[in-house]
Amino acid sequence: MSISNNSPRFAVLGGGITGLTAAYRLSQLAPRASVEVFEASDRLGGMLSTRREDGYLIEQGADSFLKKLPWAVELCEELGLGDELLPTNPQSRRALVVRDGLLHPVPEGFVILQPHRMLPMLRTPLLSWSGKLRLLQERWIGSPQGLQEADYDESVASFATRRLGREAFERLVQPLLAGIYTADPHQLSLAATMPDTVEALRKHGSLTRAAFEKAKQDAARDEESESQASGARYASFVTLRRGLGHLVETLAERLPAEKIHLNTAIQSLAKTENQQWIVRPEGGDSFDPYDGIVVALPAPRAAAIVENLDTRLSDLLGKIPYASSGIVCMVYRRDQIARDLDGFGLVVPTIEKKNIIAASFSSVKFPGRAPDDQLLVRVFLGGAMQPELVDLPDERLQALAQADLVELLGITGQPLRVDLVRWQEKMPQYHVGHVQLVDAIEKRTADFEGLELAGNAYRGVGIPQCVRSGDTAARRLAART
Ligand SMILES: Cc1cc2nc3c(=O)[nH]c(=O)nc-3n(C[C@H](O)[C@H](O)[C@H](O)COP(=O)(O)OP(=O)(O)OC[C@H]3O[C@@H](n4cnc5c(N)ncnc54)[C@H](O)[C@@H]3O)c2cc1C
Repeated sequence: MSISNNSPRFAVLGGGITGLTAAYRLSQLAPRASVEVFEASDRLGGMLSTRREDGYLIEQGADSFLKKLPWAVELCEELGLGDELLPTNPQSRRALVVRDGLLHPVPEGFVILQPHRMLPMLRTPLLSWSGKLRLLQERWIGSPQGLQEADYDESVASFATRRLGREAFERLVQPLLAGIYTADPHQLSLAATMPDTVEALRKHGSLTRAAFEKAKQDAARDEESESQASGARYASFVTLRRGLGHLVETLAERLPAEKIHLNTAIQSLAKTENQQWIVRPEGGDSFDPYDGIVVALPAPRAAAIVENLDTRLSDLLGKIPYASSGIVCMVYRRDQIARDLDGFGLVVPTIEKKNIIAASFSSVKFPGRAPDDQLLVRVFLGGAMQPELVDLPDERLQALAQADLVELLGITGQPLRVDLVRWQEKMPQYHVGHVQLVDAIEKRTADFEGLELAGNAYRGVGIPQCVRSGDTAARRLAART
């Protein structure tokens, strides 16, 4: 059924990057429509939050995005921000990993699960000789049962341990993944987080062979090969010169200010007899009915607001777990730091038994984040493996972050500045079976015309996937007008 109304009314719930993209796209595709955004907090952007102060540019949440998945770059270009896109510093494009308290670079060519070059793997002090020999056997490890089935899945930990060996998993894969997903790798779904790896194994029978073939293709196309990257593929990331908050501000400018409702938490959704949607805010009266809704909220919130509409859909949404993390952003003078900052940051394997998960050297990674003689560093704690840390008082959380950093970087003296932010229950955890769970959620949602779910809970946590998700939701609603 299509919307007969000449000026349809749409509501977007959630003012993060997903919701803002959806609202912007709806206003573009249906210019006569009224598009309203409802945001529970007092600011837009969700996990995109840039603080510009005293000559510092501090990203309190996400700090960059992949350009290989083109949707966020395309959105920036469409909004006139193409010239503002900033690549990572071409020097020091690598991550450091802690072993026995010391920092070593991720071996060149090792990208999360795939060794693209063997020589750097053999030279790295991050693995013992037996660990290296075990890694070399990867190409002879048989494929797992069911690999060719569409619903094949297993945990990243079991997959990586079987193929690369326990040591490579514990010393390389686990810390690199923790820096991205803040997840428990024994629960993290391979199919949901690394579908390319599954495809590569299906096609080539081994990750080593797949990496070798990919390097050959890249060389033929004269592209920067993964074999030159290490760890987090930093060459593939970009940010905005004025921070990711600039994207949020630009999207917000494209929407009428009176249609953005901050401090308005939505409590429930209901459907009217004539197929319109009733949106009820917490502690307030329902708004006039809407013709279509984009729910761009964390899954537990989405579960709560659809509970009265459909308990089955609510139950499915409630099955997506979330993890919390804390970020302590600190500034030091460079002369306080003994160690060379020859990487974009460091990751800490769980077996090193430290408090911090990772640290990102923001002002090394991107120019213009701090004065040249200073380091702005963001230290990550908590996640699915140490959730209790996020609830510690500020001083305690800061002390833990500082203590580990001081030891690893050889820092003397106190930071010049400290900012602390907590992201409580903000990071969805894609556990084994996530793809099937999302299939079921989407199938159930399709029963409700005019209802679209979007956001990081479903088919990718990265900013590009969120942009695509918001964009797709908007296009589907606009197609009904
Ligand atoms: C610490 C951290 C670092 C990250 N770094 C990166 C990175 O560098 N690159 C990258 O690509 N990705 C990164 N991510 C992931 C990425 O930032 C997020 O997945 C993405 O920003 C999520 O956007 P979203 O709009 O889907 O959700 P959110 O940003 O969570 O937005 C949802 C919004 O809904 C609002 N809301 C909640 N309940 C209600 C309600 N009842 N009514 C109305 N509004 C409500 C919230 O206040 C929030 O503003 C990072 C995530 C974290 C936590």
